Amino acid sequence: MLNFIRRMGPSSVPQVTAATGLDRKVVTSVLRQLDREGLVRQKELGASTGGRRPRLFELDPQFGIAVGVDIGLTHTRAVAVNIKGELIGGQTTETVTGERLIEGAIETIEMLLTKLRITRMLGIGVAMAGLLDPERTLVIFSPKFGNLKNLPLGKIIGERFGVPVYLEDNARAMALGEKEFGLARETDNFLCVNLATGIGLGIVINGQLYRGASNCAGELGHIVVEPAGPRCVCGNYGCLEVMASGLAIARQAQDALQQGVASSMREMVKGRLENITAKTVCQAAKAGDKLAFTIIEKAADYLAVGLAAVINLFNPEVIILAGGLSLAGDVIWEPINRRLKVHALEMPLSKVTIVFSELGELLGALGATTLVLNRIFEPTGLVLPKGEKGEIV
Ligand SMILES: [Zn+2]
Repeated sequence: MLNFIRRMGPSSVPQVTAATGLDRKVVTSVLRQLDREGLVRQKELGASTGGRRPRLFELDPQFGIAVGVDIGLTHTRAVAVNIKGELIGGQTTETVTGERLIEGAIETIEMLLTKLRITRMLGIGVAMAGLLDPERTLVIFSPKFGNLKNLPLGKIIGERFGVPVYLEDNARAMALGEKEFGLARETDNFLCVNLATGIGLGIVINGQLYRGASNCAGELGHIVVEPAGPRCVCGNYGCLEVMASGLAIARQAQDALQQGVASSMREMVKGRLENITAKTVCQAAKAGDKLAFTIIEKAADYLAVGLAAVINLFNPEVIILAGGLSLAGDVIWEPINRRLKVHALEMPLSKVTIVFSELGELLGALGATTLVLNRIFEPTGLVLPKGEKGEIV
């Protein structure tokens, strides 16, 4: 019943009865119960069909707030949504890597709660990159954030706020965000590719996240595309991430400039090469800078190799590109698209629609809120008696 109201909006008892196949009396009594518990509320009367105007039940936004936190390499973003999935507000801070990582996340959440005067928090979802154990909310290994190992993230944050904490890989959280708030609302089979400082893949099959046998499914960034390439944080050589992520693109530009290659990028950052980001390189490439253009072309070719592998493997209907690098638009997309035609099989390539996420930098944090929301709305294991037509006795 809750899920019907969640999907359809304000609903009358006859509508819920028809959709669930349950007895009308049961529907009425359960909805009243949910109303008493604060999960639904009664709304103004619906359109009359001749007789008495029906009472409508809708989710009660006062029930509580779900918080989503996206711990990125440079920024930590926290957002709050109500149970209707409406965004209440957000808070962004700079990420503190290393031992203070969790403390930094806790401070961001505290700032959010104070700013929005949130009194009833239902839970916290956390998204970050690394090898994670979502069931034990444990960060098993995350080299990017300062070589973190076996960090009980969920336990520490949970003890601080006294609410359930859920943990998910950031690319998977982004996929969940697209399913709940974005371009995949009507799609049950799609992929979400995070092109950012790292590269990740969220796989949704039949409406469910695919995590693999040990939570490693979707490590697109660690597919080797250049065996003779530089060393990756994972210990391997020439992974897609070390060849074509936002961080790799920035590093390649910095290295070339350090070696004295002429480029307008030097002037763009006023000689402070450490300030060059992938955004700088994309802007310079757009303006016709030769070095920037070459770096982007090369990265785009590797990205096309990775995307072609994904397209050939999954034969997806939709791929959503997200993350900072996807915001660069045509300057990176045009060469990727051109090279995809070379690297991907014609049949799956002709079938797939590749789109850019419209949720920008908040996607990961919004996706993390669904870790909380989905727990509230998932079936609670109510067992119906066998043999009867769904009637509860
Ligand atoms: Zn790697």
